[in-house]
Amino acid sequence: MGGLRRILTERWRNAQDYLHRLDSLQATGWSRLYAGHRTNQLDHVGQMLLIHPIWRPDAITAEAIQGPRAFYAPPSNAGGRCNAELLWGYKCPLLATRTFHADHVFPYWAGGSTIGSNRLLLCDVHNRMKGGDLHIYPWELPTPDWVYDQISRLASVIEAESAS
Ligand SMILES: [Zn+2]
Repeated sequence: MGGLRRILTERWRNAQDYLHRLDSLQATGWSRLYAGHRTNQLDHVGQMLLIHPIWRPDAITAEAIQGPRAFYAPPSNAGGRCNAELLWGYKCPLLATRTFHADHVFPYWAGGSTIGSNRLLLCDVHNRMKGGDLHIYPWELPTPDWVYDQISRLASVIEAESAS
């Protein structure tokens, strides 16, 4: 139980930090954060902030950076397994015959990619519970590779725009 408490405390602290920094950053925030990223001085929360849609020039669509809004052909009720454990720390006790949904681990609204490594299979009940909640995002895991891909793509577009 001590382990779970520590994990939840860390997740909530990261979510709070994320929201606080998102709120306090100004228009120049992206370049500042990116400079830190280039010199390996940016923390995990800062990296996740770099891919937030608020920084994007109007010319870049969400689809171009994150992929489509939803996962292609979400599985129905055929042979799925609810991965509630990753978010809530316990195995889903509901029947395996429920309808399953492919959801984003890091939410799309905050810049999450529609990519296999950011895909989470949840039963219909846990899918509704998750929503876009960043408090249950597994912040204790390392920054996913797709985040670095997004940062590179954003940087090339934003730097090209500021140079012109
Ligand atoms: Zn479930």
